Amino acid sequence: MLPPGHIAASYILVKSVELAGFNISGAETLVVLAASIVLDFDLLSANFLKRSHHDLISHTPLGAFILWLIFIFIVGGNLSPTGQILILLSLLLHLLLDEAGFWLYRLKLQGISREPQITWLYPRVKFPRRKDPGAFKLSFFKDYFQKAKANVFLEIILSLTALLMLWLI
Ligand SMILES: [Zn+2]
Repeated sequence: MLPPGHIAASYILVKSVELAGFNISGAETLVVLAASIVLDFDLLSANFLKRSHHDLISHTPLGAFILWLIFIFIVGGNLSPTGQILILLSLLLHLLLDEAGFWLYRLKLQGISREPQITWLYPRVKFPRRKDPGAFKLSFFKDYFQKAKANVFLEIILSLTALLMLWLI
């Protein structure tokens, strides 16, 4: 999934928790939204290592948990317990949404992704060591918009829902 989808999904998460009666400050919301895309900064190291960024520790539950601890170490003192938990949920939601491409493929709703995207049980299970799909290239986006149609549809729905919540709540 692309950054707009991740940000929208985390925004929906924050607003849903607010609707459930919890108080989330604007600053906390911003940190949770930042957490929703921070995992994809591993694209830089993946590009350098010439492998898929989904096959790096950052795109595993273990990596998400380590990143969460870093977040808590840096800004945790200024956040409510709810805000702290939302950061972890936002990181894990990112992994679920990245994996969604594979589930949508298995449901025959789109042409990619043919393989599971997340190595959930790392380090017990090793990475498949896929090649870097070249996420910085124009051809990657062309391929994504042509073959991952259900993913794109999901991203549009998430973005519209988030915009609606931003407008109404
Ligand atoms: Zn990702």
